[in-house]
Amino acid sequence: MSDSYDLVILGAGTGGYSCALRAAGLGLKVALVEKEKVGGTCLHWGCIPTKALLQAAEVAEHAQHSADYGVNATFESIEVAAMLEYKNSVVEANWKGLQSTLKARGVDVVYGSGHLKDQRTLLVDTDEGERSLVADRGLVLATGSVPRGIPVEGADIDGETIITSDHALFLDRVPERPIVLGAGAVGVEFATIWNAFGAEEVTIVEMLDALVPLEDADTQKVLAREFKKRGINALVGTKATKVEKGDGGVRVTVENGKGEQTLEGDLLMVAIGRRPVTEDMGFEDAGVELDRGYVPVDDHLRVGPEWDGGRMYAIGDILPPPSLGLAHASFQEGFLVAEQAAGERVTPIDNKGIPRVTYSHPEVGSVGYTEAELKEEGVEFDKAMFPFSHNARAMMMKTGGHVKVLAAKGNGKVLGVHVVGPRATDLIAEGQLIYNWEALPTEVAHFIHPHPTLSEALGEAHMKIAGNALHG
Ligand SMILES: Cc1cc2nc3c(=O)[nH]c(=O)nc-3n(C[C@H](O)[C@H](O)[C@H](O)COP(=O)(O)OP(=O)(O)OC[C@H]3O[C@@H](n4cnc5c(N)ncnc54)[C@H](O)[C@@H]3O)c2cc1C
Repeated sequence: MSDSYDLVILGAGTGGYSCALRAAGLGLKVALVEKEKVGGTCLHWGCIPTKALLQAAEVAEHAQHSADYGVNATFESIEVAAMLEYKNSVVEANWKGLQSTLKARGVDVVYGSGHLKDQRTLLVDTDEGERSLVADRGLVLATGSVPRGIPVEGADIDGETIITSDHALFLDRVPERPIVLGAGAVGVEFATIWNAFGAEEVTIVEMLDALVPLEDADTQKVLAREFKKRGINALVGTKATKVEKGDGGVRVTVENGKGEQTLEGDLLMVAIGRRPVTEDMGFEDAGVELDRGYVPVDDHLRVGPEWDGGRMYAIGDILPPPSLGLAHASFQEGFLVAEQAAGERVTPIDNKGIPRVTYSHPEVGSVGYTEAELKEEGVEFDKAMFPFSHNARAMMMKTGGHVKVLAAKGNGKVLGVHVVGPRATDLIAEGQLIYNWEALPTEVAHFIHPHPTLSEALGEAHMKIAGNALHG
């Protein structure tokens, strides 16, 4: 027997569940299929638990530096069990909330492993037997991603000495000398966490020439400087060539322009990216052509041929770049698909307009183009940088960094906002409005920010580019 729905969604991560909630809100009958827990990577293995650990890291850093503020406190150590309990409680509360919301909105959550029978029929292997779900308006692929391994001799993930972020979230100790491979968001966040938790030596190794390789070069410089100040050993332009385990530790041979060296640690975390989950679910038999495992889509996130009144879509981490592999990117993709399935007119997503966030200390937030990208595209631009060292609130917080704004030459629209410093991941919310509303620097400069706040740095960077600098 088969059940008929307007929308059948495979995978209940941020992409799948956001699509389900928006579609249900638009009056569609929705089935959301999940083989593990609703919330997916972000809620259980990604954004939420890592940011809880980073919150604990911030508290540890406050204790370590309390004397700078005339406060008597000491940092002794991390009570790992209690810290994990705190992190788990945050995940649990969000998970409960999500389950109730899905229920309240009438989304039919079907637990089990899904497999495409054809482009509009999903077979689900549930505890009660197989169910067949037929989609009338849309079948949405949202099966997400898992950590990528590294093709280096001896680097097999064992979950103990050689781990991924999935294992790092449940470590029952603070590693003493962790080595992190990969300086993208996940890598620099864990380097930050372990450094703040009191690890003796943290080393991060990146094959490309800078930490957070996709960010603006000025951001990369600040992060490198701050990591150095914190004693994090960052090796960029450096490639791991061999990994050996032994005596409860790990030796990693790395190579760079200066030659070969061997790093010794008690733990190796592989954080070189994630691969899409698209195999063994009948995608190709249903007409989905994969590209290096990703599901290519058109600008409306459609896949494969149309059927009478409906079609397949794909969202989230299974999309190839330029989709960003971020939870909020998958939210936006989920909304776009739900709205289309409900017959609404939609506007394709500008991936450059989706804010990028990294919660290292200092944090990084950016939107739009980097300076290097503008140069590469031959765009003429003006730029302004406002340092947090001139911002009263940041001075109180004893933090550095800057806000950098790039705008089309001669008060043209803002093309990029780059924040590195305190609360950059929150501050970039304003940057994304400025970018997406195609604001001009003079328009932003006209409005005033509350004083004293970190947000003034954003205002001041725009004032500077508009020729009305106040403090910088
Ligand atoms: C350590 C880490 C930190 C991160 N931090 C951030 C952050 O701070 N901010 C941010 O924006 N992003 C962050 N991300 C990225 C973010 O988690 C992902 O971009 C997001 O979760 C992708 O959502 P998704 O819906 O595409 O896939 P997923 O969340 O991976 O969900 C896919 C779901 O599909 C299910 N599934 C797969 N196959 C089947 C099947 N056959 N049948 C049934 N169900 C199936 C899976 O069980 C899973 O629940 C982080 C990621 C990691 C790993």
